[in-house]
Amino acid sequence: MNTSTVHQESELRSLHGKRVAIVGYGSQGRAHALNLRDSGHDVVVGLRPEGPSFARAVADGFAPLAPAEAARSADLVAMLVPDSAQPALYRDHVAPALRKGSAVLFAHGFNVHYGQIRASQDVDVVLVAPKGPGDFVRRQYSDGHGVPCLVAVAQDATGEALGRAMAYAHGLGGTRAGVLQTTFAEETETDLFGEQAVLLGGVTELVIAGFDTLVDAGYQPEVAYFECLHELKLIVDLLYEGGLARMHHFVSETAKYGDLSRGPRIVDANVRASMRTLLEEIRSGAFATEWVLENQAGRPRYERLLARDLAHPIEKVGASLRARMAWLARPTEREAAT
Ligand code: NAD
Ligand code: MG
Ligand code: MG
Ligand code: MG
Ligand code: MG
Repeated sequence: MNTSTVHQESELRSLHGKRVAIVGYGSQGRAHALNLRDSGHDVVVGLRPEGPSFARAVADGFAPLAPAEAARSADLVAMLVPDSAQPALYRDHVAPALRKGSAVLFAHGFNVHYGQIRASQDVDVVLVAPKGPGDFVRRQYSDGHGVPCLVAVAQDATGEALGRAMAYAHGLGGTRAGVLQTTFAEETETDLFGEQAVLLGGVTELVIAGFDTLVDAGYQPEVAYFECLHELKLIVDLLYEGGLARMHHFVSETAKYGDLSRGPRIVDANVRASMRTLLEEIRSGAFATEWVLENQAGRPRYERLLARDLAHPIEKVGASLRARMAWLARPTEREAAT
């Protein structure tokens, strides 16, 4: 259901005269704070004074408060620190500062859905999840557009929870692109599945497996890189703009026949069965438990897997080829700092 068509202007105004605290000033936090401020909302940023993004918030004209102070002064508190940092921050700083009848907002449902954060019964718990990274949420807004948003309500203490979430999504620019109502369960489970099976896990393994297959067969790594990684963007852009039909329209008939006749042999019944297994691990909470424990242990497996990913030969050949492509985006400040 597209709630942007059924919700009234009055509901979109339900944050007027209210103060919004944005806790965390990273990818989403910065975009939300700037968009909401430009939409006329009273925005306060909550950050640790020694944290890395404090100076950035100051440079953008905010006067950040400590997270607890920001939460104490606000009617709605947006939790925009990394998911793994949210439970402790909520327990120690936000929960004790929340006023009865205020709202807590998340941009991803993980902690609420898997019981890592349990808010007291007298506050609203809502979700506004823009379907794009923060830089994109900000850029689209500045250009007069918006990014589609999912909204959901986990707890409606005031009777105004959905109106508040809609007003927040409106302030982000989301209603310019469409707001879709969902649940914390649906947002969380589909988000995890998408990134694991398709967007990140699936795509990167497909690219690397294709690259390895060509290189192992004696083809030049540079050629393999262009074929399996570089050209992916062109295809993804066509899919994004016009689905399968537009993609088919722009590729050759030979390419199309190869796609139609060979694709299902790559993503075969085994792959589909593995996808169902991943989804089951997500729905049962097994993935969430594994990730919470991994964080508690200091992320040894995460660090090991990340190092192995970055050591793959495709990274080396890719870096040297991309250095010659002057039009490509250079690393952002945030990327360079990590
Ligand atoms: P981020 O890593 O970009 O930013 C984190 C911010 O929190 C920084 O300001 C950092 O200094 C601060 N921070 C980190 N640890 C902290 C701590 N212990 N205490 C206080 N502050 C701390 O985070 P993000 O990617 O914007 O993610 C925020 C939320 O948005 C998450 O729930 C995430 O799932 C969700 N989300 C992210 C994206 C995305 O594209 N990045 C998209 C949709 C939803
Ligand atoms: Mg996602
Ligand atoms: Mg995600
Ligand atoms: Mg990968
Ligand atoms: Mg080709």
